[in-house]
Amino acid sequence: MSSRTDGVVAGIDLGGTAINYTFLDATGRFLIDGLCEHPARSVEGPDVCLGQIAEGLDVACRTAGINRARIVAAGLDTPGPASAMGVLSRKGSTNFVHAGWASYDIRAGLESRLGLPVVYLNDCNAAALWGHVAIFGATNDATSISAIIGTGLGGGVIVGGRLVTGRNGFGGELGHVLIPFQSIPDIEGLVPACNCGRTGDLESLCSLTAIRRTLLPYFLAKHPDHILAADDIATAATKVRGMAERGDEMCRAIFRVQARALGLFFDEMINVFDPDALIVGGGAVETSKEFQRWFLDEVRAGMPEQREEQASLPIHVMPHGDTAGARGAAIEAARLPHDQTP
Ligand SMILES: [Zn+2]
Repeated sequence: MSSRTDGVVAGIDLGGTAINYTFLDATGRFLIDGLCEHPARSVEGPDVCLGQIAEGLDVACRTAGINRARIVAAGLDTPGPASAMGVLSRKGSTNFVHAGWASYDIRAGLESRLGLPVVYLNDCNAAALWGHVAIFGATNDATSISAIIGTGLGGGVIVGGRLVTGRNGFGGELGHVLIPFQSIPDIEGLVPACNCGRTGDLESLCSLTAIRRTLLPYFLAKHPDHILAADDIATAATKVRGMAERGDEMCRAIFRVQARALGLFFDEMINVFDPDALIVGGGAVETSKEFQRWFLDEVRAGMPEQREEQASLPIHVMPHGDTAGARGAAIEAARLPHDQTP
């Protein structure tokens, strides 16, 4: 990784409200086990937020017992949309509500603030990279598809060990791939609209937004006496996962639709990439092992029959899901040729 064997790289996962840090040493070991968080203050704009990132990095160094001078590079990940080089979209980022973020080059901004080389990934690509390396090791030529089910649906495509980021940085925007949702059982008449304008893409059926906007209203209309009918829809939507885990029939049916949608999508990916593994991450599977197993079984049940060679393709749950972004960003930074950097 570096001519300096004591060098470490930092992984910095910037969310709307919190920044999470990790460090990766030259042997490929992470020096922080769980979350190491600092407030993001992203709503106050780039200048305040970059100051927070730098301050939090110093705190993380003290927490991990690392001399700041050992850091040779940093990987940064944020929610998109942003270019592959870390220029946030003209409309700003969904989670960063401040006019100063529009078209802001956050990678270059952080590089000059920290005085370190900085690489950029969007948060789902970073998580996908971590999941991939956790399964296949740092040096590999494997292919994997990761789907991260959160407020939206993001993900990452890794081919031959490398992330597909695409020409504009929108590679791996899996949520907006259309799926043949009409083949999912028990949703006659359902019209799954997505914020992007498409109808029937993966995110429109498999995300927290899909539950709030489409699935919960649809199922509550069939079950008007359900306890969640008494809540406002946004509050009720956040309760669906917990109730599904506890076995509530309607909430299980909602998660079954999500799983079947993901199964249809994975089938498309299998036919395009012939991958070594599929990975599922995000809030939807931050649950008990038992529920994870049920969900993955439903994903498989949603996939059309596979060729014999591909039938044993593994589906993994993202390991260490809450630290996945920071870890993936650190892995990307470790791939920089540090010998050429200051
Ligand atoms: Zn969409």
